[in-house]
This record gives sequence, C-alpha cells and structure tokens, in this order.
Amino acid sequence: MLLLLVFILGLAIGSFINVVVIRLSAGERLNGRSYCRNCRSTLFWYHNIPVFSFLCLGGRCAFCRQRISWQYPLVELTTGLVFVLGAYYMPADDWWWLLTYLVLAAWVVILFVFDFRFKVLPDIITLSGAVALFFLNLARGQSLISLLIAVLAGTGFFAVQYFISRGRWIGAGDIRLGALMGAALGWPQVAVAVVLAYWLGAVVGLALLFNKKYSLKSELAFGTFLTAATLAVFIWGEEMVSWYWRLVS
Ligand SMILES: [Zn+2]
Repeated sequence: MLLLLVFILGLAIGSFINVVVIRLSAGERLNGRSYCRNCRSTLFWYHNIPVFSFLCLGGRCAFCRQRISWQYPLVELTTGLVFVLGAYYMPADDWWWLLTYLVLAAWVVILFVFDFRFKVLPDIITLSGAVALFFLNLARGQSLISLLIAVLAGTGFFAVQYFISRGRWIGAGDIRLGALMGAALGWPQVAVAVVLAYWLGAVVGLALLFNKKYSLKSELAFGTFLTAATLAVFIWGEEMVSWYWRLVS
C-alpha cells in the first residue's frame, strides 16, 4: 500500500519536474496553468494526469495533435519508480529517512534531466537542494561534523579540478553539485559516491565508445553519473563502505 502511494506521489512529482525543467530552461516563470508548447492552448486537468493522459491522447496534444515529447511520461515513470525504490528500502519505519530520500530523489531527477539534455546544472537547483538536504539530515540526527566535512570535501574535490583545468574537465556546476552530494550523504559516503560515479562514467563511456555512438572528443554529462551515484549511495552506502573495507583488509 505504501509502495503504491509513494509511486503515485512520484508520478505527480515527476509531472511537476517536467514543468520545472521545461520552464526553467526556457527562462519562464514556474507558476501559471499548463499549456501546449506548440499551439499555446491551456490544458485541462484531465490532460495533465501523469503517463495516463499521454497514453490516452496517443502522445499528441488534444487541440493541435502536435506530438508531445517522450520526456514527459519517461520522467514521470522514472520518478515514480525511484520513489518506490526508497519506500522499499526504508529502514524499519524511519520516516525521516524516507522524507530525506524523496527530497534527494526529486532533486536528483531534475539535475539528471537538466545535465542529460542541456549539460547544465542550474545553481538554483543544486544550492536549494544542498540547503534542504543539509537540514533534513540534521533533523534526522546525522552528525553535524560529518555533514560539514562532506560538504567541504565534495565542494573542494571539484573546485580543485575546476581551477587546475581552468574549467575544461568539469563545469562550475559540478562544484555546487559536490556541496549537494556532501549535504545528502555525509562523510565518508560522499567519497564513495564520487568513486562510484567515476566507475560508472568509465564503464558507460567505454560501452559507448565500442558502439561508436560517441567519438572520443564528445564529453559525457558527468553530472548524470554523479547524481545517479548519490542516490545509490544514499540507499546502499553503508553496505558499500563495509564491502570495501572487507576487500582491502
Ligand atoms: Zn497543441
């Protein structure tokens, strides 16, 4: 029952995330009724039901029949499934954990879509997420010292690379994403997430290289790996850390 509720909540949040990404990238205001981006007709509430409306309308606008981007149902479904993952792995009735996870998941999906599509990580998203997650983690009893160390480490790690490479290896947005990662995970999990992201990036990069879909020159949006790794470490971080210690000891 909880899984179903959280899934529906995820669909609704995913629908809102689409609005945030599309309007923020177009420099529009976030409030106001939804409308078709082609014919500008105002949509009714029943055109806005996540996934369902897309399927009923055959993926087209109800007024002008212009094709609607697959991004809409895809982001809605993904958010729903990512939310369910958290409800499934919630430590015994730890509702603060679940709330923190859901906030992190929503921010991760927004940043993932932004970085994947536009190769930017908007400051307003990374910084608001970092602040929200920092206080949520404090509220659920995480150590202040651990969070501060993690924020400094996350920010510092990317800032050093940014300044050494004069912004060629990574973007300034990654520095602020480092702060969000630290605030979400604490120390030492933030380091685990960074290592995991580099591994993910390497594996996916090689796979794409062999499929000749990417030339060596084209850069992968590294933020997508960092955000995905952050979510995975939030759920499985302790297992990963203890697994690693068994491996090296
Ligand atoms: Zn239309």
